[in-house]
Amino acid sequence: MHLNEKIAKFATRKLLNNHIIMRKNIVAGNWKMNTTKVDGVALAQEVAALSEQTPAEVGLIVAPPFTHLCAVGKALAGSKVELSAQNCADHVKGAYTGEVSVDMLKAVGCQWTILGHSERREYYGETDEKLVEKTRLALEAGLGVILCVGERLEEREAGKHFDVCASQIENVLYKFSAEDMKKVIIAYEPVWAIGTGKTATAEQAEEIHAFIRSRIAAKFGDEVAEDMTILYGGSCKPSNARELFAQKDIDGGLIGGAALKAADFIEIAKSF
Ligand code: PEP
Repeated sequence: MHLNEKIAKFATRKLLNNHIIMRKNIVAGNWKMNTTKVDGVALAQEVAALSEQTPAEVGLIVAPPFTHLCAVGKALAGSKVELSAQNCADHVKGAYTGEVSVDMLKAVGCQWTILGHSERREYYGETDEKLVEKTRLALEAGLGVILCVGERLEEREAGKHFDVCASQIENVLYKFSAEDMKKVIIAYEPVWAIGTGKTATAEQAEEIHAFIRSRIAAKFGDEVAEDMTILYGGSCKPSNARELFAQKDIDGGLIGGAALKAADFIEIAKSF
């Protein structure tokens, strides 16, 4: 993107009917079930050190496995990189073996939790109803929520991708207030692009990001929609991030595989 186009993009973001648009560019790394604690701390230290090379206005988040949240949080201390969980329980506390509550996440320094990742929807029966509960508990505890939405390959081939994303957003986020939306990020992740090496084209991604923003506007108004950060996820890497992030409604990425290499993750964060 030429400097003039960059300035134009920035300028169009700045004002909407005298409303200063607050949305932030963010790159978040979902480490999934990867790294031991030792490897995870080393990766976090590298990300924290390299984060100084990224533009001040770009936010960085990493989401390690539960077992290393505490240690990774310590490794990130003093850097701009924020800490996220990959999931949380749909209950406050009690007899829910194997679950981790929002208060536990807060207590180890999490600022965010990812919710509704397609792997959780697909393999662990995560329903929109459960996601409403999880989102409610997370927001009440003061955690920000990165809500993942996206269609499967067969749904895209059947032309249902708009409907799928609309219902995932409406079933969950429409249960909350405009004020709550200040602590929510949406990640559009087409399931067919996750870990497959197939990326949505910038045009495909922009089309659905703009649609998602319009669904937020329909419920909460234009200002809330313009302030909402909407990330793209699905085989995003240094070689394609620039083109994706140049789109008007793509405000960054939720990164899986490429987040496991600090240099790649940081290179992506330098792609705005
Ligand atoms: C993800 O799982 O959130 C993801 C985007 O993975 P990948 O970047 O590996 O496709």
